[in-house]
Amino acid sequence: MKREFAVIGLGRFGGSICRELSMEGMDVLAIDVDEDKVNEFKNFASYAVIADSTDEAALKELGIKNIDHVIVAIGDNIQASILTTVILTDLGIKKITVKAQNDYHEKILKKIGADQVVHPERDMGKRIAHNIISNNILDY
Ligand code: ATP
Repeated sequence: MKREFAVIGLGRFGGSICRELSMEGMDVLAIDVDEDKVNEFKNFASYAVIADSTDEAALKELGIKNIDHVIVAIGDNIQASILTTVILTDLGIKKITVKAQNDYHEKILKKIGADQVVHPERDMGKRIAHNIISNNILDY
């Protein structure tokens, strides 16, 4: 059975997740407040809609409750990211992944019930550092 995902925030990070999930044949609901961003994703996401994720009624109307996994990729607006996460946990979404902007943001997201908190720049920096070390070991 196809799994259903929603990606909220279609910046570089959210956009890339949305693209990859769609290319893997998953059902993806793409959400952003910015009309231009939504238009960009209309061609490959199953559904692309303009909505403010801090608006609980709007999320309910989109049927977010039926989605298996929601990814919150709002970076700069920490308040919107936190409020969106609270709404999603209140609605009982099974799995919520949220992009954190800094350590305080991450701490709050975990406290309010995010299942997975990612910090793309930091996590990728760590991976690349480890790759560099292991490549150097192989080189010698
Ligand atoms: P990235 O670091 O991934 O490139 P970005 O810098 O492009 O992100 P951010 O400000 O972190 O942009 O936000 C990511 C996206 O989230 C933007 O496209 C923005 O329009 C969208 N966004 C911000 N607030 C909301 C909201 N309340 N509801 C829905 N989408 C939102």
